Amino acid sequence: METEKIGFIGLGNMGHPMAKNLEKAGFPLSVYNRSSEKAENFKEKSTVYTQIPELIQNNDIIFTMLTDDHAVKAVYKEILKSDISGKLFIDMSTISPQVTSELSGAVKIKEASFIDAPVAGSTIPAAEGTLIIMAGGETKDLQRAMPYFEKLGKAVKHLGENGKGIAGKLSINYFLSAIYQGLAETVLFADKLGIGRSAMLEIINESASGNGATKVKTAMLIKDQYEPAFALDLMLKDILLAQNAGADFPLSKVLSETYQSAHDEGFGKDDVIGIINYLKK
Ligand code: NAP
Repeated sequence: METEKIGFIGLGNMGHPMAKNLEKAGFPLSVYNRSSEKAENFKEKSTVYTQIPELIQNNDIIFTMLTDDHAVKAVYKEILKSDISGKLFIDMSTISPQVTSELSGAVKIKEASFIDAPVAGSTIPAAEGTLIIMAGGETKDLQRAMPYFEKLGKAVKHLGENGKGIAGKLSINYFLSAIYQGLAETVLFADKLGIGRSAMLEIINESASGNGATKVKTAMLIKDQYEPAFALDLMLKDILLAQNAGADFPLSKVLSETYQSAHDEGFGKDDVIGIINYLKK
């Protein structure tokens, strides 16, 4: 199975390093990205396609790592133009349970297979191949995907049938959205009380309240620069997806309102922890 031909669609902040890991592992790889410049440095070792149907026709297992429902639907509209029987589609984007269900149905009706496999971990774990992959799909399809998952992540959690991967991902990102807003508010509060950011973040990271998420955002908070690793707009998308999927709690209302207002005031393209600039106002 390891000689199957692999296609990867979506070379953004996450998809690019993920596809690079598959390339480095020596799998026969083809890539596509809507904006062609992001595919440039795959030209030497992999095949770069400028049309989705061509990539589909020439590959067996196709990964997608795209922004949102809209992007995934647009790409699958192209995918479904081809004969896809026998192929395996693995969508690693964070999208809605409804679109996941629509896509898995559309793929299966054409005698192909589908796994929803969104990930926990940002651009550094994507580059290091240490993502946590939450998968929904059939065991035989996961077995087929495993050689590739092993190069992308440090753990694969098979959570059940199609849709369960997305369910796990919406749950973990709900928690993450609360951590980031809490971290930004805490740092601002400490600023107000005259505690320097480096000192405060050291305390947070060394204490029980520190975690991977607080550590990964520490450098940005100290530099006070928020180049996006995970854009605030993507977090807003995930909170709204969680709310639509039933996250109806006191915090969910506050979180969606805060991230929505930060987006409305122009902070959406910054990193998610750039929410601190919105909260500071
Ligand atoms: P990103 O950097 O914005 O990349 C998005 C990708 O989607 C790009 O390749 C973009 O192509 C493509 N795309 C968007 N709309 C499209 C369309 N209509 N047709 C074709 N391609 C389209 O986003 P990312 O940070 O890699 O995130 C990708 C997914 O992973 C999202 O669902 C996100 O929530 C999830 N995720 C992100 C992180 C993170 O830390 N960044 C962590 C875990 C999960 P162009 O280059 O042409 O725009």
